[in-house]
Amino acid sequence: MKNKIWLSSPHMGGNEQRYVNEAFETNWIAPLGPHVNNFEQALAKYTSAHEVAALSSGTAALHLALIMLGVKPGDEVICQSMTFSASANPIAYLGATPVFVDSEADTWNMCPEQLRVAIEDRLAKGKLPKAIIPVHLYGMPANMPAIMAIANEYEIPVIEDAAEALGSTLNGQAMGTFGLMGILSFNGNKIITTSGGGALISDHKEYIEKSRFLATQARDNAPHYQHSEIGYNYRMSNVCAGIGLGQMEVLDERIQQRRANFDFYKTHLSQLPGVSLIDEPTGYFSNRWLSTILVDPEKANGLTREKLADHLAADVIECRPLWKPMHLQPVFEAAPYYGTGVAEKLFENGLCLPSGSNLSDADKSRVLSKLLELF
Ligand SMILES: *Cc1c(COP(=O)(O)O)cnc(C)c1O
Repeated sequence: MKNKIWLSSPHMGGNEQRYVNEAFETNWIAPLGPHVNNFEQALAKYTSAHEVAALSSGTAALHLALIMLGVKPGDEVICQSMTFSASANPIAYLGATPVFVDSEADTWNMCPEQLRVAIEDRLAKGKLPKAIIPVHLYGMPANMPAIMAIANEYEIPVIEDAAEALGSTLNGQAMGTFGLMGILSFNGNKIITTSGGGALISDHKEYIEKSRFLATQARDNAPHYQHSEIGYNYRMSNVCAGIGLGQMEVLDERIQQRRANFDFYKTHLSQLPGVSLIDEPTGYFSNRWLSTILVDPEKANGLTREKLADHLAADVIECRPLWKPMHLQPVFEAAPYYGTGVAEKLFENGLCLPSGSNLSDADKSRVLSKLLELF
């Protein structure tokens, strides 16, 4: 039986276990403690965000960000359609309506032109959206200068979903620090992991402090348990933060390894008929969390991404179509959508290839030879 090649699996650096042991030895097994503080500081330093709150997941971070912006039932929130469902679900948790916006071909992320169309149309229908959620999908930065210019013009706050983009930058600036707030994820499949976890980052201290308050059950300052607001149990555990501390030591290495995966695929696949890989526009630096290819069946002798995926799966190689756009998901059927079919096309033709930082050269060669068999 061949060993399975995963799409993206956890990759420990070595010191994680030591930090976790330290948490046990000092009995800091709670959702607070020195590792949590140190992990927050390490993230702040790495991203140059002024403030970071370590939370139980990226989804929780987004949920709290929307709560702090006052999103309520009946409100509308603009969200990139081409994303993972966790970008949109917190909008629904609050009884608000997601308004989905198409991608641009250059970055696969929120199209600034369609964003403007969406805002104008929602305004014409009587509602200014409460927030905008662009996503840096697969690590590729969205066009934040253009998105921020439009958001500022209409005075709509931006929450960046940088769950997949820790280490990615645009003109040298870390993703997640362009908007009012940004969220990160440390789920098991992300570029670094805490087994499960996330963070809210911002240059505005008041949001981070408020998020910590909400994430620990919104306890008022009193000797007894006293609450004036609804709270949540969303803080990161000190044990998980220990894993995160170890992972921060190898983050730059992980980015290099992921980028090397992409370069390998690019070198060997971009010459094939009908196959293309997404380049970084000038000034864009992607952590290349996942390496993806587009396959145009008309130019690839009828080869589709399904055929490629089936062929890899038969050799126990995990791969996955690009994320299915939210406006095509049954659960968001009724939500408004603004676009020109870019995201649909990406979903039809796109495939995520094994991208872990722990892939061996032999693993990559096996993936490559399986793909070449079909071409
Ligand atoms: C992983 C992910 C999230 C959610 O993060 P969790 O930590 O798993 O809750 C949100 N958005 C995107 C784009 C993601 O990939």
